[in-house]
Amino acid sequence: MIPPKADVLVIMPHPDDSEFGCAGTVARWTKEGKRVVYVVITNGDKGTSDRSLTPAKLSVIRQAEQREAARVLGVSDVVYLGYPDQGLEDSPGLRKDIVRQIRLYRPDTVVTLDPYRRYVWHRDHRIAGQVVLDAVYPYARDHLAYPDMLAEGLEPHNVKEMYFTASEDVNFRSDVTDTFELKVQALACHKSQVGDRIAEIGEGLRHRAEEMARGQSFELAEAFHYIDLEMLGPYRKKDKI
Ligand SMILES: [Zn+2]
Repeated sequence: MIPPKADVLVIMPHPDDSEFGCAGTVARWTKEGKRVVYVVITNGDKGTSDRSLTPAKLSVIRQAEQREAARVLGVSDVVYLGYPDQGLEDSPGLRKDIVRQIRLYRPDTVVTLDPYRRYVWHRDHRIAGQVVLDAVYPYARDHLAYPDMLAEGLEPHNVKEMYFTASEDVNFRSDVTDTFELKVQALACHKSQVGDRIAEIGEGLRHRAEEMARGQSFELAEAFHYIDLEMLGPYRKKDKI
């Protein structure tokens, strides 16, 4: 069944990546009436230093935490693709799974992690960012990319814009002054990750948000690399004829 269209699809490898990267912006968007859907690629089953937790138990805990955080932010739906944590590869299968979600939800905006952060960068983050970018363009767009999806009724889809979190090449600062507290509340839902350090983490994030807003007309910002896919030139213009 084809779900209602989302305005924004946030596609991240792990439960909590969205909250760290873009929760303030997500909360602002949902307050503005936008429909935001999360796609979480892995089950997060390696993210612990607690040796008493099995991967299976951890993945159940982390999915519940992510659902709770999404509820705090007004996110409409959370889709789990169930890949193993630390197990992502830039594979045809993963690319196709992401294209499927894009064609199902038909978002104008896609948010993911910046794949081009240098040196120490979680492999799942690097690979997820790259695969999401490739899935948006050109694979979700081209009807011949996946004839079987077309036969299922999943039409090609043009995403209009992308936001990349954790970028070293920031060109967009999003005003989260009014939603920063919700971001911290949503992060606090990820108890298996933040434990009792939420006050300290919130403080660090506030400091960073102040820094990112320096020179802007607002107080707190989340920073992104932004691309307008409608401005990409002849390839896109051709689509519009
Ligand atoms: Zn992550």
